[in-house]
Amino acid sequence: MADRVLALFRTAETADRPPVPGWIVRTVVLGEQADSDDDDIDLAKRLADKDCLIVTSPRAAAWVNKQALPPERRKPVFVAGPATGAVLANGRWDVRVPALATGGEAAVRMLAAAGFRRPLFVGARETAGTVEATCRSLNLDLEHLAAYATKARKNLDPSELPDPVVAQAAAFLAPSAVRFLEKMAPTYFRQLALTRPAAACGEATLQALRELGWRDIRPAPGPDLQQLVQAFGGTMSSRELFARSLAVTPGGVHSPVRAFRNVGAEPFYVASAKGSRLTTVDGKELVDWVGSWGPMVLGHSHPAVGAAIQSSLASGSSFGACSIPEVELSEEICRRNPWVQKVRLVSSGTEATMSALRLARGFTGRPAFIKFRGCYHGHGDSFLVAAGSGALTHGHPSSPGVTPDTAKDTLVAEFNDLESVEAAFAARPGEISCIFVEPVPGNMGVVPAQPGFLEGLRTLCDEHGALLVLDEVMTGFRVHTRGAAGLLGIQPDLATYGKIIGGGLPLAAFGGRADIMDKLSPLGPVYQAGTLSGNPLACAAGLALLRELTPEVYTRLAILGERMEKAILPGIAGKPLRFQRVGSMATLFFHDGPVRTFADVAACDNAAFGRFFRIMLDKGHFLPPAQFEAFFLSAAHTEEDVDRFAKDLLFAADSALA
Ligand SMILES: *Cc1c(COP(=O)(O)O)cnc(C)c1O
Repeated sequence: MADRVLALFRTAETADRPPVPGWIVRTVVLGEQADSDDDDIDLAKRLADKDCLIVTSPRAAAWVNKQALPPERRKPVFVAGPATGAVLANGRWDVRVPALATGGEAAVRMLAAAGFRRPLFVGARETAGTVEATCRSLNLDLEHLAAYATKARKNLDPSELPDPVVAQAAAFLAPSAVRFLEKMAPTYFRQLALTRPAAACGEATLQALRELGWRDIRPAPGPDLQQLVQAFGGTMSSRELFARSLAVTPGGVHSPVRAFRNVGAEPFYVASAKGSRLTTVDGKELVDWVGSWGPMVLGHSHPAVGAAIQSSLASGSSFGACSIPEVELSEEICRRNPWVQKVRLVSSGTEATMSALRLARGFTGRPAFIKFRGCYHGHGDSFLVAAGSGALTHGHPSSPGVTPDTAKDTLVAEFNDLESVEAAFAARPGEISCIFVEPVPGNMGVVPAQPGFLEGLRTLCDEHGALLVLDEVMTGFRVHTRGAAGLLGIQPDLATYGKIIGGGLPLAAFGGRADIMDKLSPLGPVYQAGTLSGNPLACAAGLALLRELTPEVYTRLAILGERMEKAILPGIAGKPLRFQRVGSMATLFFHDGPVRTFADVAACDNAAFGRFFRIMLDKGHFLPPAQFEAFFLSAAHTEEDVDRFAKDLLFAADSALA
């Protein structure tokens, strides 16, 4: 839609700002020399397939006016500020939204907030009105407005400039303003330069001042383009994006849980994320308790991770050959997890579990394996298998497309029920290659293992010559620096990792005993490969995140988790609610009494959870949109976030039950 609706005009002033995420906009950059150099931009042609035009500065407006478009071709124009609007109105354009904050206004507000009552403003004459109006509304003294005409830059007499000692601060509203003053009043400019703090309007203006050796300059943000587009009807609303997506993607989503179907809600689209907060394209801010399903353990847009990605990107993004980050990340994974003697990097958790299963089968020469009802190991065929009715001998496909032949080698046992595991071993004597288990299941909601259960699995594996595979895609580097294996003291033969280890980029891994891992190609016969495996960007991101995961971070997560639990438990006592937590993973079950098995999970009140989810979303909390999921704390959450969460959770749960 946006590409149909928008032609976005920016001056050099705004050209460096990042475009609004997710938009397809046609951008025409009007540079410093717009009046001459850019005359060859054919506006009529550019507008042909658009419904409207956005103009963000008086300079751009003046240029637009100059284009000889017949009135019937003059589409609606949306402008950033009053000054721009005024210029366009002169050109008889159909102006729609003339009153959003502009750079000039932002600079005035910034200097006023900093306590300057008598700043000097330098800007084009068209902007003067905005500056004047903003000063008036803020009760600012405006004796120092140096305005020049955009074209005839000579009609400001330097002698008209105020005494630099009197001016407390200077604001520059365009790069041309900087150059204008530098040219017109060099002495004056230098005096200002020596003594005064300044506010600049945008990146280009900042740059112009920096080049002249100015210090203590602060950027005043220019027009908020996103706000501008929303002002003319929310073109990029979540609803609209979802409708577009439905036409080209099954169910509109690229992973089913994102469709919010379990909770009777419509999905939102994220525009940006920072720390513990998401901002949707609808402009709503949400406290994020999903954290990209785990990776954002330090919050979104972590600076160390971003810097690592950028510096890695500078050297290229994928080579299909060996590079340094893959070695460093592999070493870090092995160093932290002593049972991982060797590791192989892949691109998703699904790939890690699939490959680990093939390896376990290849290593033991046995066809079958055991997994647990309610545990999730990605969507590899062998894992999309449900327990057969009664008899454990035959799992059957839980998704069309998985063949019965594949399913028959998957035995599905009950979590926290060792007898069911023994029965599975007995059903296929000598044929079980491995047990796959989430050591702290999060994919049926948080259901901790009962004491002795994981130890029992270890013993059974040893007795039967099978391998124990801990699927730590969710728990690795989250519940403990050495994952659930470290937290619970269970030694796996193989382990799978994902989510956190990619730092938010697609990366996962499996690893374990060297004698098993060495059965992989190219050393051994078990085939496994990946075009993007060990991708340098993803490895750099993962490594940067792991290096930030210090013992202090785990202490912090523990403190927040305990605080949350303490705030919630008393409020749900006596109600059909159950709060279960392991470290920074937790679930509120709509269930009376403890949730220990998948049967308990299945008895939860899904409809009540849906109501709960919608109320929480309304209150500004993004929770996993399904009962059978864990929500995640990050170190970016604050005590206030946690307290507000607990309070809202209790309210929402009560309302959902009522
Ligand atoms: C998320 C998850 C997976 C699958 O990982 P993807 O990257 O989504 O393929 C596998 N196992 C567990 C325990 C998970 O939580």
